[in-house]
Amino acid sequence: MALFDKKDQNAGGMVPGEAECDRRLAELAQERVNTILQIGQVFLAGNSIESVKGTPYEVHIKKVEAIDKETDYQEKRKLALRGLRKCEKCGNILVLDSSFCNKCGEKLQPLFVNDPVVGNVCPQCGAPVAEGAAFCTSCGKKIEQ
Ligand SMILES: [Zn+2]
Ligand SMILES: [Zn+2]
Repeated sequence: MALFDKKDQNAGGMVPGEAECDRRLAELAQERVNTILQIGQVFLAGNSIESVKGTPYEVHIKKVEAIDKETDYQEKRKLALRGLRKCEKCGNILVLDSSFCNKCGEKLQPLFVNDPVVGNVCPQCGAPVAEGAAFCTSCGKKIEQ
């Protein structure tokens, strides 16, 4: 029974050197995640939704595109909440109701448009609007149907 006694002694506790193994295991797990992320970034840079059509990558690339689209929407909304918008051409910050960029002269397009990713949104402030709503409940803008 001597062998079992020794095993019981260490059950649940650390044995010498184990912490070092755990530290290295955690590093390796993190390195693995980072390396896979890099593979994904290289793949993304070299491919498009067209080049991955019909492959297992398609669903993931679509997800990235949807994330990028919503990121753009949330950034625009954040500015709009402060009464500001960005010129899409030169990046200049302008007051929300500007018609032209006062830096590069670009004619500004409607800031928010309905889209499968962001849904129905107010063209002026970007707040979600209910289907068939006549006015935006956030800013009061009349919604064209
Ligand atoms: Zn501009
Ligand atoms: Zn609005």
